[in-house]
Amino acid sequence: MHSFQTFSFQNKKALVRVDFNVPLNDQFVITDDNRMAATIPTIKKILADGGSVILMSHLGRPKDGPEEKFSLKHLVPHLKELLGNVPVLFAEDCIGTKTTEMAAALKPGEVLLLENLRFYKEEEKGDRAFAEKLSKYGDVYVNDAFGTAHRAHASTAVIADFFTAENKLFGALMEAEVISAEKVLHRADKPFTAIIGGAKVSDKILIIENLLERATDIIIGGGMAYTFIKARGGKIGNSLCEDDRLDTAKEVLEKARLKGVSIHLPETSIIADKFAADANTNDCPSDQIPDGWMGLDIGAKAIGIFTEVILKSKTILWNGPMGVFEMEKFQNGTKSIALAVAESTSHGAFSLVGGGDSVAAVNKFHLADKVSYVSTGGGALLEYFEGKELPGIAAVKGV
Ligand code: AMP
Repeated sequence: MHSFQTFSFQNKKALVRVDFNVPLNDQFVITDDNRMAATIPTIKKILADGGSVILMSHLGRPKDGPEEKFSLKHLVPHLKELLGNVPVLFAEDCIGTKTTEMAAALKPGEVLLLENLRFYKEEEKGDRAFAEKLSKYGDVYVNDAFGTAHRAHASTAVIADFFTAENKLFGALMEAEVISAEKVLHRADKPFTAIIGGAKVSDKILIIENLLERATDIIIGGGMAYTFIKARGGKIGNSLCEDDRLDTAKEVLEKARLKGVSIHLPETSIIADKFAADANTNDCPSDQIPDGWMGLDIGAKAIGIFTEVILKSKTILWNGPMGVFEMEKFQNGTKSIALAVAESTSHGAFSLVGGGDSVAAVNKFHLADKVSYVSTGGGALLEYFEGKELPGIAAVKGV
């Protein structure tokens, strides 16, 4: 497979699958443009080479055909702004004669953004005929949409069949995502610590099981920790708990013991008498939480122990917050862990942060540039670390 940076796009029409699935408010203003900004270097490189760019993406989850609120036309002004002085055209339909003509007439240096692919059910169904129609627009297929790499949709995977190995490649963003994810999953320097947080064990169980094969240490924080603590016989009061996962949690703890993987649960928690910003709080052992109280963050002792583990790590994967970091009273655990990851990185560790909420956390604490890599892929990154093959990666690699 070609490397993106050394590929020449001169006089080529590059059909680029991007992930422009950005949040819009009810005035259709973009409230977070990270996903768009992340793919700008790919577009710029193609244009600088003397190529033209046809961009295709989905936006939201339209139910049945076109819907104003999911139109990609709302993104055109901001895309122009991000690209500087570049002509950006918009095709009101992602397929059809008019769009075919617009793509054919596109000149080097120009960009054409297609309307939302998901206005056609064929996109998510991975319809071959639909993928073939899209494929006709470009000489080269570039997949730069890591965020949708876990989907076998028409534009993310199926379409690659209509391009020869010479004419399909990853974009700069996808390349960087894949390189850092592969490094952590397959070439991690040890000690390798995975920090897994967030609300639910059920969402993270597959990733934990796969990491048991690879990590030396697994830190479990956030709401999901309490299912593990209860499984060990602790008293967790009204903390979040998935009772139907208690056996799973026990199995994970046992497997880790047999494999020699250290699982670190928070020894102490910041407990609250209600799930609210103005709750009364206390720092107490996580296995002695009184009834009527719930653990909403990791406590000071847990922060100390987790920090020590993180500082001795050479590879760190972080997915999911340590507490309800959206509320100031319960953000200290997540913030302290973010700082520890940043410090460890400054001492030479490789740190990958991924998954919606942990990315939101490093951004909130202004630490995104202090970790090695912040992934744009939520579900895709999770599935990658669950050990699944991502269709969007496999299709381009031709494996
Ligand atoms: P996830 O999407 O599974 O990574 O979960 C992220 C969410 O989990 C965030 O909105 C946090 O507020 C929430 N969360 C983290 N810790 C806790 C906790 N101890 N109790 C309840 N919710 C939590």
